[in-house]
Amino acid sequence: MIAEKMYELGTKKSTIRTIFEFGRKRAAEVGEENIYDFSLGNPNVPSPECVKQAVFDILNEMEPCAVHGYTVAPGDPAVRESLAASLNTRFGTKFSGKNLFMTAGAAAAITITFKALSEAEDEFITFAPFFPEYRCFVESTGAKLIVVPARTVDFQIDFAAFADLLTPHTKAVIVNSPNNRSGSVYSEATIRKLTALLEEKEREYGHPIFLISDEPYREIAYDGIDVPYLTKYYNNTIVCYSYSKSLSLPGERIGYIVVPDEIIDFGRVYGAIAGAGRVLTHVNAPSLFQRVIARCADETSDLAFYEKNGKLLYNGLIAAGFTCVKPQGAFYLFPKALEEDDYAFCERAKKYDLLLVPGTDFGCPGYFRAAYCIKTETIERSLPLFKKLAAEYNI
Ligand code: PLP
Repeated sequence: MIAEKMYELGTKKSTIRTIFEFGRKRAAEVGEENIYDFSLGNPNVPSPECVKQAVFDILNEMEPCAVHGYTVAPGDPAVRESLAASLNTRFGTKFSGKNLFMTAGAAAAITITFKALSEAEDEFITFAPFFPEYRCFVESTGAKLIVVPARTVDFQIDFAAFADLLTPHTKAVIVNSPNNRSGSVYSEATIRKLTALLEEKEREYGHPIFLISDEPYREIAYDGIDVPYLTKYYNNTIVCYSYSKSLSLPGERIGYIVVPDEIIDFGRVYGAIAGAGRVLTHVNAPSLFQRVIARCADETSDLAFYEKNGKLLYNGLIAAGFTCVKPQGAFYLFPKALEEDDYAFCERAKKYDLLLVPGTDFGCPGYFRAAYCIKTETIERSLPLFKKLAAEYNI
C-alpha cells in the first residue's frame, strides 16, 4: 500500500532525536538549566545585523510580487553573479553566475548532486565519522554508500583503507571539512594526496570520479587554519554550500551548488543538476533569502563564539582524563568514550544529565559526539559532571 522504506524513514527516530526528546522530558522534571544537551548541531549565535537590515531593505525596495515570486530554477541571475564574485575574491577562483545553482541549503545541494550523478550500481564513498543523512540521500537514488573507517589519531584520511574501497563502480567521493562529527579540517597535504589518488583511479577506470565537497562549516575554522578550496585542486569537484551555519540561517533553507568550468563536460553535469532539481521538486531556492544572502555574502555571525566554546570544552575534557583530537573547526568534539560500548557510555552519562551522541551511528564506534553550539555557561557547569563521570571509570 505504501513504500515501506519511506515509512521506516519517516517513523524510526534517529538517536539524536531520541536523546533530544529525553532532554526535553528531563528539563520539565529538573529545570532547563540542569540539562547539558550536547546533542544538536543548531547554531546558537544570532545572524549578523546585515541579515535583518537586508530583509527590511529588500521588502521596502522591491515590488512584493518580485520579492516573493518564482525565480528561474538555478536562482536569480544577479544573486548568482554576486555570490560568484564573492567566492572569486575570497578564494581566487574564476566563477561566474552560470557556475552556481541556488538550493534550499546543503541538504538539498547534496541530494540534488547525488541524484544528478547516480546511475545503476554506482557507489558513493565517504569517511567516518560521517553525517548520517548521506546514507538515506544516496540510497534514495538507488546508489550505495560506502564508508571508509575513521583514522582516529587525527581524523584525516586512512588512505590504505580508502584505496581498498575504490572500485570501477565508484561514482563520487564525499568530503565534509570542517567536519561535522570530528571537528577536524582536512589539511592541504590530505587534499593533495586525495586528489592525486582520484586522478590516478580516473585514469585506471577510464571514467570520472567526482569529488563532492559538503561544506556548511567552511567559515568555522580555528586559529586561522586554511580550509583548501577544492575546485583549485581537482577538476571534477562539485561544491555544496549552505548559509545555515555561517549566517545562522538553518530555518531559511538557503545555499548553493558550484559546478566549475573545469569539470568534465560542464554543460551535461550542470544540466543533470537542473534535471535532478526538477524531479526533486526544487522549483527554486527561497526567493527572499536568495536576495538577502547576496547582500551579506562576505559576512558571518560571531563565529569566534564557537572557537571559545570548543577550547573550553576540549580543555575541560582533557583535564578530566578524556582523549580527544583538538577541534580545528565546525562546532563538535569527538572524544573517545570511556568504555568500548559507546551506547552504554552515553547511557551512563545521562545519569548526570549530560546528553551525548554515540559515535556508532556515524560509523565510528567507541567515540561520542558533543555539539558545543550551546551557552558557554552550560559548558562551564558541565565540566565537574564530566569529571564525576570519568571518576566512575577510575580515571
Ligand atoms: N551536511 C552536513 C555535514 C551537516 O552537518 C548539515 C547540517 O547540520 C547539512 C549537510 C545540512 O545543512 P543544511 O541546513 O544547509 O541543509
